[in-house]
Amino acid sequence: MNILDELKISILYVEDNPDDQLILKRSLKEKLPINFDLITVETATKGLKKVENENFDIIIFDYMLPDMSGIEFVQELKKKNVKTPTILVTSKGSETVAVNAMKLGVHDYIIKEEISSRRLVDSITELLLKSSLPETVDTETAKVIATIFDKNPTIYIESINVLRYKPANEIPAKKLISALKTLAEIKIVNALPSRSVIICPDCSSTTTTLHLECPECEITKMTKEEALEHFDCGNIDFRSNFEKGEGISICPKCGKKLKVIGVDYRKIENWYKCANKHFFGQPNFKFVCSKCNGRFTLEEANLDMLHNYNITTSGRQILKLGVKVTEMSEKSQDKKSSRKT
Ligand SMILES: [Zn+2]
Ligand SMILES: [Zn+2]
Ligand SMILES: [Zn+2]
Repeated sequence: MNILDELKISILYVEDNPDDQLILKRSLKEKLPINFDLITVETATKGLKKVENENFDIIIFDYMLPDMSGIEFVQELKKKNVKTPTILVTSKGSETVAVNAMKLGVHDYIIKEEISSRRLVDSITELLLKSSLPETVDTETAKVIATIFDKNPTIYIESINVLRYKPANEIPAKKLISALKTLAEIKIVNALPSRSVIICPDCSSTTTTLHLECPECEITKMTKEEALEHFDCGNIDFRSNFEKGEGISICPKCGKKLKVIGVDYRKIENWYKCANKHFFGQPNFKFVCSKCNGRFTLEEANLDMLHNYNITTSGRQILKLGVKVTEMSEKSQDKKSSRKT
């Protein structure tokens, strides 16, 4: 079943003019892509009473109310600790009033002539989207993520802070990826683990290169060859240093002739010699940070898991239409409050 069919939002409209009440109702019926209940009251006092007893998803109110101004109404809402998104309807030329109201906590405003326009519906869906997103994800970023998902079923993260796609906007990949992580926490997207990355423990940079080092002097200049170990004296050296031509091999350390492989000597496939003439069977693996030049082993490195992301069905609806899923936003609300405590 389409999630939108099950959804219903509740809107409170505080307006004393019956014509405006009708216009707004008709407009929402035509243009709002979500089912809704519209409760209309004529005075601020009645509005405040409604808010005390019911939960609304959006409150729309006129600036000129019979019993108080829109500014006073907002202040009353604030006193009651009402967090519901609010839209102020003001007359043309009163934009200064609107700006002041927004400073006091009104979320958006429209001018009266716009109550029948697309502008009101856009404002409502925008505020709904905002209220269903965690505080750390802005609606702009959420919309960009939605457009990427329009064209790609999965968003691939190539490396920390690198997306496979270059979205046509100025939002940095870092911000998009951090938003995806947050959206995964509230199940708007699914996070699919892909691979781990090495992170410098000193500066957190992810641009590191792997070096092979001599265990004794730590230089990286080394050669790898086949070697022989002479059991009689314990000497290990490159095969070329034993060979004296015509199939004869003589140990360069003790001068004895090698006899039978597996009896008095053995072959070692990989043997290393550094430029300082240290021999060793296994070099040390070291990561070198390109940013701070720090050197660290795999054990010392920080590891991070990269994820790819796909979108959940309800997540798609939320991101595309700014639809608030009550259950979901309550969950994210819980998360927010538990983080604070
Ligand atoms: Zn570093
Ligand atoms: Zn060395
Ligand atoms: Zn020897």
